[in-house]
Formats: sequence, structure tokens, C-alpha cells
Amino acid sequence: MKNNQIIGEIDYLLTTYCEGCYLKDLFRKEKGKLAAHNFCIHACTVGEEIREIGENLCSK
Ligand code: SF4
Repeated sequence: MKNNQIIGEIDYLLTTYCEGCYLKDLFRKEKGKLAAHNFCIHACTVGEEIREIGENLCSK
């Protein structure tokens, strides 16, 4: 998959699921930014998918 496609998929997930996410806001307020970030990456299936897709980005 090309970088443009990968970025497009990530953007789709972010705008569809992450914008205005109640869970992220709640974690930020109650436990801070780092805890919210960790929740997104390790406990949310959307975050997990974003991370997996992002691993295919080429740095070239
Ligand atoms: S990764 Fe999950 S918890 Fe985090 S903002 Fe996106 S939908 Fe919300």
C-alpha cells in the first residue's frame, strides 16, 4: 500500500471515530494526556488499527 493510501485510511479512522471521542476526553480530564494516549493505543480497537496501519508507512 502506498503512503498516500495509508494516510487516507488513517485520516478516515481519525475523522470517523476519534474526532469528538467521549472516551479520549474523559481520560484526558480524569487521568491526563498520557493515560488517554495509552488508552487509545493499547485498549481501543480503533487506536490499535491506526497503529497497525501506520506501521506500514515508509520513511522514504
Ligand atoms: S483511538 Fe479510540 S479511544 Fe482514542 S480517540 Fe480514537 S476512538 Fe477514541
